[in-house]
Amino acid sequence: MAQIIDGKAIAADIRREVAADVAALSSAHGLVPGLAVVIVGSRKDSQTYVNMKRKACAEVGICSIDVDLPEDISEPALVAEVHRLNADPAVHGILVQLPLPKHINEEKILSEICIEKDVDGFHPLNIGKLAMKGREPLFVPCTPKGCMELLSRSGVTVKGKRAVVVGRSNIVGLPVSLLLLKADATVSIVHSRTPDPESIVREADIVIAAAGQAMMIKGDWIKPGAAVIDVGTNSVDDPTRKSGYRLVGDVDFAAVSKVAGYLTPVPGGVGPMTVAMLLKNTVDGAKRGIVE
Ligand code: NAP
Repeated sequence: MAQIIDGKAIAADIRREVAADVAALSSAHGLVPGLAVVIVGSRKDSQTYVNMKRKACAEVGICSIDVDLPEDISEPALVAEVHRLNADPAVHGILVQLPLPKHINEEKILSEICIEKDVDGFHPLNIGKLAMKGREPLFVPCTPKGCMELLSRSGVTVKGKRAVVVGRSNIVGLPVSLLLLKADATVSIVHSRTPDPESIVREADIVIAAAGQAMMIKGDWIKPGAAVIDVGTNSVDDPTRKSGYRLVGDVDFAAVSKVAGYLTPVPGGVGPMTVAMLLKNTVDGAKRGIVE
């Protein structure tokens, strides 16, 4: 049976480390790290994520600077807001909650965040540096960074291993592939146009599943002993639940847990790590400001 990687417990360890860093910054430099959390409009799911991030900041002593903007804000006005936060010395990280309303170009907004405050790591310069040999990005996207942290804190060696990433999105699949490559794995990426994905996944010592397809990865896709990180978060109907649904990953947990060496659950695996990494990125940004 696979060792189940407890993302909640690992994320709690990281939050404790971040809280200790925040306390040290405050006593040594009188500095309180600040994270601007920008939300446009009133989408319920975005509100939930933003509230979760703001609460997590408060718990570790990071000052959350709340920027709540109306749904009909113009693109130039939102750009001006980002520029204001870029110039504010109390702000060490800027997070713009996605998706933005349709009339706003997300790519444009994300590239207006200065790279020194790009705690989500989505700025093209940060992604570009992640992709280049010998360059280091200022920030790495939180979910991919969380996947790497789950592997390293579970004692899984990446160097020299065969890794397969299922999915190639800008926020998960692509950056996690680049991180695995930087960590000296041999990396393959499977996507929706890949024929016979199971034969490629079966070669992997490390599988990162980020396709957004409920339970697509079956037990017989997995090499015995492989480490499997399930990023997928899919809601499926479940009439036995009061809510009428439950969350499942991209991995068939029951079957894969019988074959894999390590496996993350959904929920309680990658999810808690994403917020923990956001907090860590914010404190790292604040520390970098002191060195300069
Ligand atoms: P996305 O933008 O929809 O990208 C999905 C990727 O998977 C695409 O590259 C797509 O290929 C590929 N794909 C789709 N169906 C496939 C199939 N049948 N076989 C192989 N590849 C397939 O999704 P995302 O934003 O990367 O998110 C992926 C999953 O992770 C979602 O379930 C999301 O909810 C979850 N997620 C969780 C967290 C967390 O903190 N836990 C954070 C972010 C995302 P093409 O490029 O060819 O279309």
